Amino acid sequence: MLLNVRAGNMSAFPDEPQHFVRWLVDKRIFEENDAAASFASRRDYGSYLGDVLCSQRSKSAAELTIIQDTAREVDPANGLTVVTSTGTRHRADRVVLSAGNLRPCCPTSLEKFSGHPRFVQSPWELDALAGVQEMDSIFIVGTGLTMVDVVLLLRSRRHRGRITARSRRGFLPTAHKKGTPALFALKPEPNEVFDSIIKLLRESGEDWRSTFDGIRPHTVALWQSLSWKDRDRFVKRLRPFWDVFRHRMPESAAEEIQVAQESGQLDAGCGRITGVQAIGDGFEVQMSGGGQTISADWVLNCTGPTMNVKSEKIPILESIVNAGLADYDPLGLGLMVDDAGRTDDSGQVWAIGPLCRGCRWETSAIPEIRVQAHRIATEISN
Ligand SMILES: Cc1cc2nc3c(=O)[nH]c(=O)nc-3n(C[C@H](O)[C@H](O)[C@H](O)COP(=O)(O)OP(=O)(O)OC[C@H]3O[C@@H](n4cnc5c(N)ncnc54)[C@H](O)[C@@H]3O)c2cc1C
Repeated sequence: MLLNVRAGNMSAFPDEPQHFVRWLVDKRIFEENDAAASFASRRDYGSYLGDVLCSQRSKSAAELTIIQDTAREVDPANGLTVVTSTGTRHRADRVVLSAGNLRPCCPTSLEKFSGHPRFVQSPWELDALAGVQEMDSIFIVGTGLTMVDVVLLLRSRRHRGRITARSRRGFLPTAHKKGTPALFALKPEPNEVFDSIIKLLRESGEDWRSTFDGIRPHTVALWQSLSWKDRDRFVKRLRPFWDVFRHRMPESAAEEIQVAQESGQLDAGCGRITGVQAIGDGFEVQMSGGGQTISADWVLNCTGPTMNVKSEKIPILESIVNAGLADYDPLGLGLMVDDAGRTDDSGQVWAIGPLCRGCRWETSAIPEIRVQAHRIATEISN
């Protein structure tokens, strides 16, 4: 499986943008000329991050202990104490919340199948698709990047059964363009965010992807120039369009998806589920309009990470909010953070990544997370 971001944008260090590219070349994974524009595999990226952690660990005087447990509570009495699900207590001067993307939430029509052996609520779990046989038919809820991941993974395991994927609009992610994209510095006017982006897209004369990527460094400022009411409108009405153009797949992935569609294996399109029944070992999925019924051996939930962090009532976040050390943002997309990532004025608790979505929007991928990590590490160590 490939990353969805070019290697040239995946360095762990904001001040050393070529760090990952050099690693790939040193490991002879890519030739020097191609490396920056290429899409590395997720496995290689994992090895890279492992190497980075190992080398930083050996250089640093700080001691890192990794504990396999779930942090459930922060007790603010006498400094901070993090309590885990096994009941262990860890004293801390600061807590940095880096919980990443939340598991996909379950569409209402599928809630009753929680625990069903052929309903996969989160395809990202290890071995979630291990039981799928070569000719099993599959119904996928969602047509975004997770659907793409799942289809590619199944095909890499020689799965040949029918795959039907449906979402409300039926949009598939767009593809990156082959080769090195034009570097394009743009600064849209914050007071007319969407009008100015559309104007730039029309007038730039560049491929639309370069225009979109050119806006990326300013996305946080643009987002913060919107009122909470406008952010809410964006999330409800424009997000599906934004996701399709902003979160793209490598061209090789798009080609593979096309092959799957042309061969008749994959049928991806729009449709609204009105009901799902368990029939024998599998399912029957009823779609609105025309009363089409699709039968499938498996139903996979590929609706993407849960956006509404507040409604998930995650114990560690609830405990921090109840202790007055953080607040949910008005849309419940994450926590309120300042520019540095503090959730409270005292600087005891910090948040990074998707938990900052309400305040930053563009906050779930490495190009943004590495900047946030650098800033938090610098602020905390000063
Ligand atoms: C399918 C997919 C593809 C992606 N592709 C790319 C890509 O190509 N390039 C890119 O830049 N980004 C990509 N992303 C975005 C990706 O989420 C981030 O790049 C990166 O994984 C975020 O790192 P993180 O450490 O913030 O979160 P994560 O990597 O999600 O790590 C969060 C960690 O916190 C742990 N955790 C959560 N809650 C608790 C708790 N209460 N107690 C203890 N531990 C807890 C989790 O188990 C996990 O280990 C992709 C995301 C998805 C879902």
